[in-house]
Amino acid sequence: TAPVLVPRRQVWTPPGGAFWAGVWQPVGRPLEVRDPEDGALVGVVTDSTAADVAVAVDHLAARWDRVAWPLWARRAALEETATRLTDLTETFVNLISTEGCKTIAEARTEVARAVETLHTSARATAELEGATVPFQDTRRGAGWTGWYSREPVGLVAAITPFNDPLNLVAHKLGPALIAGNGVILKPAQSTPLTALALVQILVESGVPGERLAVLAGHQAGPALVADPRIDVVSFTGGPATADRIAAGGRARRLLMELGGNNALIACADADPARVADAIVGGAFGTAGQSCLSVQRAFVADAIFPEVLERVVSGARRVVAGSKRDPHSDIGPLITTAEAVRVQAWVVEAVAGGAVVRTGGTRSGAFVTPTVLTDVPVDARIRREEVFGPIVMLEPFDTLADAIDSANAVDTGLQAGVFTRDIDTALTVARRLRVGAVMINESSDFRIDAMPFGGFKRSGIGREGIAEMIRELTEPKIVAIRAP
Ligand code: NAD
Repeated sequence: TAPVLVPRRQVWTPPGGAFWAGVWQPVGRPLEVRDPEDGALVGVVTDSTAADVAVAVDHLAARWDRVAWPLWARRAALEETATRLTDLTETFVNLISTEGCKTIAEARTEVARAVETLHTSARATAELEGATVPFQDTRRGAGWTGWYSREPVGLVAAITPFNDPLNLVAHKLGPALIAGNGVILKPAQSTPLTALALVQILVESGVPGERLAVLAGHQAGPALVADPRIDVVSFTGGPATADRIAAGGRARRLLMELGGNNALIACADADPARVADAIVGGAFGTAGQSCLSVQRAFVADAIFPEVLERVVSGARRVVAGSKRDPHSDIGPLITTAEAVRVQAWVVEAVAGGAVVRTGGTRSGAFVTPTVLTDVPVDARIRREEVFGPIVMLEPFDTLADAIDSANAVDTGLQAGVFTRDIDTALTVARRLRVGAVMINESSDFRIDAMPFGGFKRSGIGREGIAEMIRELTEPKIVAIRAP
């Protein structure tokens, strides 16, 4: 049965509380899913236990590579899923914008992006090509011939955060499945319904039940990470969770996409209006709950006053309101507790001398778009990822100062630079310790085909469809000695 669009609050109901062993499992211990906007109950899945995880892993570990699933069939299943997702756009928009933080418009953008992610994954089969090995290149290789192929790495634990509940899941599952792996998905506690719905259409589109499982719940992540039969942990989330995962496991492949505290550098020759638009869009979109959000903007002295004025008036125009209201630009934070934390960071910065130019207020889970200046160097809001609609602006004198300031954090995901001078742009791009530099755009731009990830504490390894396929395969050599 396909998910169907129903009015608000009656979102699609999963056929069970979790999926493993090829069947939907009845809801066990309940994990309630609530609308962050007002706390209304919108669905129930299973709060899976470590024992549930063990049974699911038992099933997949024994079977994932025993079922023939040729590459053409993998591609067909992902293409079919993309087609069905397109057809079910409004169902998924409803799910994302009910259990998650996104407005209807933001959710629609995410569904379209997830469709592309599935198509790109389906078509990335060239990444699975191997090559012959030039044995004749060495004396020791005389008489040998051989090749290598790319084999699936095995069982992948895919652990995802709440902020892009559909596309981040598609970005993990698409490459892992096309590469021929078995995958156990553990979506965020707050947004499991979207993930379960995607699993449902993947399975209905031909992904074998021996290759895919999904379990939500508080114990499920740690249990998966602890299971020695998991070959790779592919995690996206925050640095504190990443540390727990790294500390808890044995030596094995860990892929980690973590947070950012992204900078934008605007040089004196940049157009203040474009810079301000990029800051407002990059800092406040999805209420700042994106790993690519602009959090720190360093603006050349000459244009600082105009950029500040434009950012403040732009921030005041951003409407924070109900996700279902078409007039809202942004919705709530994922929980009221998160909104309280974000506001506390603002208060702490102000106590140290920061000036609130606009915003700084909170109502329930909603935080008003906030612009700060004069933020002290030791304020949390400057040093750590805030994951809320807050941006700090700071003037700079020399480009070297701006680059040093941008680099003065322990993460390095993406950055943006605005200048009309190509030498300046390339100097900034060369010197920033980040995974990607967007010239004439904010840090908040990404397509899923890009190799994606960061320097320093922003992660380990790279996502992006092609990069992920390489990360989730093992080159295997077959060598033949002449008789
Ligand atoms: P989080 O770290 O709290 O949770 C992420 C996932 O890990 C969830 O599914 C959670 O249940 C699970 N988890 C929690 N403890 C675990 C444990 N001990 N073992 C295994 N799994 C565990 O992150 P969040 O609050 O959901 O998401 C926000 C964070 O994600 C931000 O830091 C953001 O920057 C980051 N993020 C990064 C990217 C990226 O691609 N770089 C993309 C989106 C979000």
